[in-house]
Amino acid sequence: MKKVVLAGSLIILFFLLMLLFPKKDEMQSTMAKDKNTYPFYKAENKERYLKYQNQHPELEEIDVITRVNLNLDQPFYTNTKEADNLQSSSLLVSKYRYLKEDYIPKDLEEISSCVEGTRLLVKDARIHFEKLCESATKENMKIRAISSYRSYAYQKKLYNNYVQKDGVELADTYSARPGFSEHQTGLVVDIDNYKTDYNHFETTKEFTWMQENAYKYGFILRYPKGKEEITGYDYEAWHYRYVGVDIATAIHNTNLTLDEYYVRFLEK
Ligand SMILES: [Zn+2]
Repeated sequence: MKKVVLAGSLIILFFLLMLLFPKKDEMQSTMAKDKNTYPFYKAENKERYLKYQNQHPELEEIDVITRVNLNLDQPFYTNTKEADNLQSSSLLVSKYRYLKEDYIPKDLEEISSCVEGTRLLVKDARIHFEKLCESATKENMKIRAISSYRSYAYQKKLYNNYVQKDGVELADTYSARPGFSEHQTGLVVDIDNYKTDYNHFETTKEFTWMQENAYKYGFILRYPKGKEEITGYDYEAWHYRYVGVDIATAIHNTNLTLDEYYVRFLEK
């Protein structure tokens, strides 16, 4: 009888221990139950999710999946692929998603207000930038487009100059490699207020105005402060990306980066 009780106790103890220390497989099953929980969950990334989750226990499951889908578990500029949604305002270009050397956006047009010299944007972005400019001007804001569309060849020259000056490692933190620059999309505008150096745009009243209003015209601050790990870029208060009013509004309301928004809601 005693033996039976002892055996029974051992069995109970065994199951208690199983509960406390689940097998590896059971631990894994707590990660991303299925595609119904997160429609952007990718079964082929399972091992990477688990590895990344172990390395970043502070992250929520949804952020683990998002970041791995962005390729952030790999060093920048590795596992790169051509961007999809080409010629669309929701296109994502990052340190993992590039544009080919011969990629030229359709409908590039010259900006006609809040600009000096010749600066080009894709038609829809150009129209919305000019609307933004008109509203800003009415409120006594001074905004000037200082850089917009850049060709692959131009970015190559720019990046190589930075590399010569600062070396690859440092240059990579503030300049995109050719093909990886968002400026090649024709959907990006860098701005200043005519007098403060663009590097200090954050300190201007125009910046505050942009924070409150840019999304209404379809523009977002593309590389926000505190999101450097996700975007791969230092904070850039002057760099605005056109994504259309709907996506800009969603991003404004959720505080996500375009990278995160893209893999969660736009990627097929
Ligand atoms: Zn820029």
